[in-house]
Amino acid sequence: MSTFFYNTMTRRKEEFRPISSGRIKMYTCGPTVYNFAHIGNFRAYIFEDLLRRYLKFKGYQVTQVMNITDVDDKIIRDANKSGTSITEFTKAYRDAFFEDLDILGIERAEYYPAATEHISEMVQLVQSLLEKGVAYRTEDGSIYFKVSEYPDYGKLAHLNIEEMRRGSRVQNDEYEKEEIRDFALWKGWKEEDRSVYWDTEIGKGRPGWHIECSAMSMKYLGHHFDIHTGGVDNIFPHHENEIAQSEAATGEKFVNYWLHCEHLMVEGDKMSKSAGNFYRLRELLDKGIDATAIRYVLLSTHYRQKLNFTFDKLKAAAKSITRLRDFKKSLSGEFKSGSLQLNDSVEKYLTEFEAALDDDLNISGALGAVFSLMHEINSYRQDNELTNQDAAAVLKSLAKVDSILNVLTEKEAELADDEKRLIDARANARKERNWAEADRIRDELLNRGIVLEDTPKGTVWKRKIATKQQ
Ligand code: AMP
Ligand code: ZN
Repeated sequence: MSTFFYNTMTRRKEEFRPISSGRIKMYTCGPTVYNFAHIGNFRAYIFEDLLRRYLKFKGYQVTQVMNITDVDDKIIRDANKSGTSITEFTKAYRDAFFEDLDILGIERAEYYPAATEHISEMVQLVQSLLEKGVAYRTEDGSIYFKVSEYPDYGKLAHLNIEEMRRGSRVQNDEYEKEEIRDFALWKGWKEEDRSVYWDTEIGKGRPGWHIECSAMSMKYLGHHFDIHTGGVDNIFPHHENEIAQSEAATGEKFVNYWLHCEHLMVEGDKMSKSAGNFYRLRELLDKGIDATAIRYVLLSTHYRQKLNFTFDKLKAAAKSITRLRDFKKSLSGEFKSGSLQLNDSVEKYLTEFEAALDDDLNISGALGAVFSLMHEINSYRQDNELTNQDAAAVLKSLAKVDSILNVLTEKEAELADDEKRLIDARANARKERNWAEADRIRDELLNRGIVLEDTPKGTVWKRKIATKQQ
């Protein structure tokens, strides 16, 4: 089955064809590590996780690169304020970022290059742009990209170049550039940068943000690669500038497919650090909210639709996850022997799941197929007994689906010793027909987020998915 992605470059869905068959190279813009990431950022990273997991599900071998921006104006400002080096200052946020990825079940990329470790690649790229006459130096030691020398400028953001005012006055620290649309490749050292600079062939200073992504993507993926992603705020100027720098330097097409996710909103506004209307993942977790419920909320709305973050959505997500997990649990154990009866249903819904994702990652359709499978199997079970082969086939299809969703496996589900003791004590109370004590222990466990169910096969427990602020 073919895959279709909406390409921001052409503004339409296009059939996806990789450059080399079976292998995908993709680049995703990563975090600026001057603070903890907010869940808006994680919407972008979860969309990229969905894309990556889907491509692997389709059988591709994926090489993904995500940059870590560990030098920029804000980092220098805040590191200097706290009297530490930028390396020390960014370390905690960088470590936290990787922890957060794991907590949200985001699969690791193959490469996480840090900007400060790739200065020489950036310097080389700037040098080649200077040699080609598409960049110029200013008196303060900065180097700018000369947009008028790159006629394709604006092709990603679909800008009308005539409307971009030329030669108007430029703000504050960039007053020396020739045209307002020119952008910094290299920023000459200024007093306030203090000890943050590199002494290089192109002068003393530091790289601009855009050049970082061009240099590092091309280093790990080559001049021409398959997919580049980010949030819609990255389209202009960041990705437009990446294209200009890379294509002007190499003369080759930079990227085939540009995929961008819409924003996570709070009451109609983009969630962002600068607007101050953000939730950090850590704050939500500290309030006892379950990470998988957050993952599900961020994952389950189509990536090109705005998503309004609410606590009701978390609650609905927890309910969906619980139903899926209960369904999965109900398929383990011994069933009757006999032949496979349910193969057609399983195949039908798996095909539906895949077909939905083939259509520009239509996650609602894909989830719809999973819930339909569950309903159909559950209603079949009302009148029929499953065979061991049936249960195994359904479990196998759930495992396939969960290689993309990654919500079915309970994390940290092990019981603590005192919790185990409580469960045993309740079993004893029940044996002694001390129902009051049994109920008291059940409530105590419930307060700790453990739900007990007495089934014909014995008492089973599960963790409640927390979605309320405590
Ligand atoms: P930043 O650290 O601001 O450079 O952002 C890192 C990534 O998060 C980029 O791909 C942004 O496009 C994305 N991003 C930032 N805010 C949001 C938001 N509210 N919703 C979705 N993605 C976002
Ligand atoms: Zn980038």
